[in-house]
Amino acid sequence: MPSVTEPVLRAEALHKTYGGRVLGRGGVHAVAGVSLELRAGETLGVVGESGCGKSTLARMLVGLEAPDSGTVSFNGEPFSRGRIARQVRRRVQMVFQDPVTSLNPRMTVLDIVAEPLDVHRLARDRAARRERVGELLDLVGLAPELMDRFPHEFSGGQRQRIGIARALATEPEVIVCDEPVSALDMSVQAQVVNLLADLQRRLGVALVFIAHDLAVVRHVSHRVGVMYLGRMAELGPAGEVYGAPAHPYTTALLSAAPVPRPGARGRDRIILAGDPPSPADPPSGCRFRTRCWKARDVCAEVVPELSGPREQLAACHFADFAGVADGFGAVGG
Ligand code: ADP
Ligand code: MG
Repeated sequence: MPSVTEPVLRAEALHKTYGGRVLGRGGVHAVAGVSLELRAGETLGVVGESGCGKSTLARMLVGLEAPDSGTVSFNGEPFSRGRIARQVRRRVQMVFQDPVTSLNPRMTVLDIVAEPLDVHRLARDRAARRERVGELLDLVGLAPELMDRFPHEFSGGQRQRIGIARALATEPEVIVCDEPVSALDMSVQAQVVNLLADLQRRLGVALVFIAHDLAVVRHVSHRVGVMYLGRMAELGPAGEVYGAPAHPYTTALLSAAPVPRPGARGRDRIILAGDPPSPADPPSGCRFRTRCWKARDVCAEVVPELSGPREQLAACHFADFAGVADGFGAVGG
């Protein structure tokens, strides 16, 4: 068991640039210095607009992609560059955004879900393999009798359940879910979110739950990180981030969210002007400053560090931690 202070997964100052010299330009700085900790058994929501670097971060967190600089550690052991230890591969799994393209259409559900068992030689024989796949399907709310069918015979929500069963096969300590419900109908999204929350509680697995919308991860996240253009704008306990956001970007995202926020302080609705700037040519200093109503000269000159007086952190020269100082606590998701 990891100790209380040891996060199960830790990312330190991760950077990843695509292109660059090949394109004869600076490249796309997709992840520009992200640090985070995932504690054993918790759900960390990570949200941000399309293109802000969420999937790049996810791939680095599970070792599918190596950072240009920075490290990811699993239970205190850094992923070695190039080769990821077998044990880490087994204990850190991923659920992908698109349940159609992430499942091989020519494989049965049995073979899809059993693939990690085969890779890690976790099934004694064919009978044990079938039995384990049956258990996994049951765990995600699918009838074990369906294991000899092919992915196209299932709905989008059911396919994502198959992807989750596959991720659970090796009894991981961490599952990074990259927008697991974004491709699903609204009516199905809540079912899959609830399934993940339920599995997190029952199995004690730690989840990174990525979404482009704060509303999606609201009820399942213990802590939430808000990304903007490759950086973490705000990171903190869910009740504080939702109830008293410290970063103007979080405030704007919540203001635009189509969900009522009972207990939240009254605020004018803030509409973010325009699209995020290109990550190939980000603004100097604070990357959010070109869309921020609080921006002053310092914001163009000095990159704000992710910091704060307590657990709630914000990368803003004018961060508003008032909600915390006010004795905030009763308000929450
Ligand atoms: P998100 O998941 O938040 O939408 P991504 O991590 O997919 O963001 O992408 C972040 C930025 O990096 C985008 O500008 C995207 O175009 C770029 N990018 C992502 N993956 C690649 C890649 N394999 N090659 C080149 N550019 C990429
Ligand atoms: Mg993505």
